[in-house]
Amino acid sequence: MIFRQLEEPVSNTYTYLLGCPDTGEALLIDPVINSIDRDLQVLQSLGLKLVYTLDTHIHADHITSAKELKQRVGSKIAAPAIDRLPCVDVGIVEATPLQLGGLKIDPLHTPGHTDGHFAYRCADRVFTGDALLIDGCGRTDFQNGDAATLYRSVVDKLFSMPDETLVFPAHDYQNRRVSTIAQEKLRNPRLGKGRTLEEFQAIMAGLDLPYPKFIDYAVPGNRACGVCPDDLPDALREYCERMSDSPQG
Ligand code: FE
Repeated sequence: MIFRQLEEPVSNTYTYLLGCPDTGEALLIDPVINSIDRDLQVLQSLGLKLVYTLDTHIHADHITSAKELKQRVGSKIAAPAIDRLPCVDVGIVEATPLQLGGLKIDPLHTPGHTDGHFAYRCADRVFTGDALLIDGCGRTDFQNGDAATLYRSVVDKLFSMPDETLVFPAHDYQNRRVSTIAQEKLRNPRLGKGRTLEEFQAIMAGLDLPYPKFIDYAVPGNRACGVCPDDLPDALREYCERMSDSPQG
């Protein structure tokens, strides 16, 4: 597998490039509009053709580049079918793998952060989106989120994977890059250490997080597969500006 972990600094999002060395086909998990030029440069430098973009969920903190990548290089937009977005080309459902050359991507419905959230397993790793972060998890207070539902997704579905499975999250705010299922079961302060459902619900209810500052623009933009709104206030412009340099994260 050809693999790159790419970082978008405004929203601290990790975009994952997966490529098949035999066919030269590639996909991007959770690509961000700010870093579209960098991502295309990386694909080009590796000699790969972008076949799919694949989002884990309808994001509230950045705009996906799925639509613009489709316009620029002809990639198909893959995203959870449950969200019923008219702009999606390939509706992802659980237990129906997405084939990318010789790579098989297994979708896992992992609701709780949002109701339509999916994680994607490929070979020795799982891309957990915002369901499971390193020593954390996504918030559960917007987008039909629900703490009890997230608990079941993580404990029943993700923690039942082999201990050595690599965990690649959608974000990390402390520049950590990868974990394992064993590590999260052992030390995740919210969901690991044998936390009970009741303990997890109490932790999530007590977070007292601020209102997500970009959500009112990001969600409608992402329901259209990646449109920057015309009425974006100046204070939020950085969410739609292109990265001027090309940090590879
Ligand atoms: Fe999210």
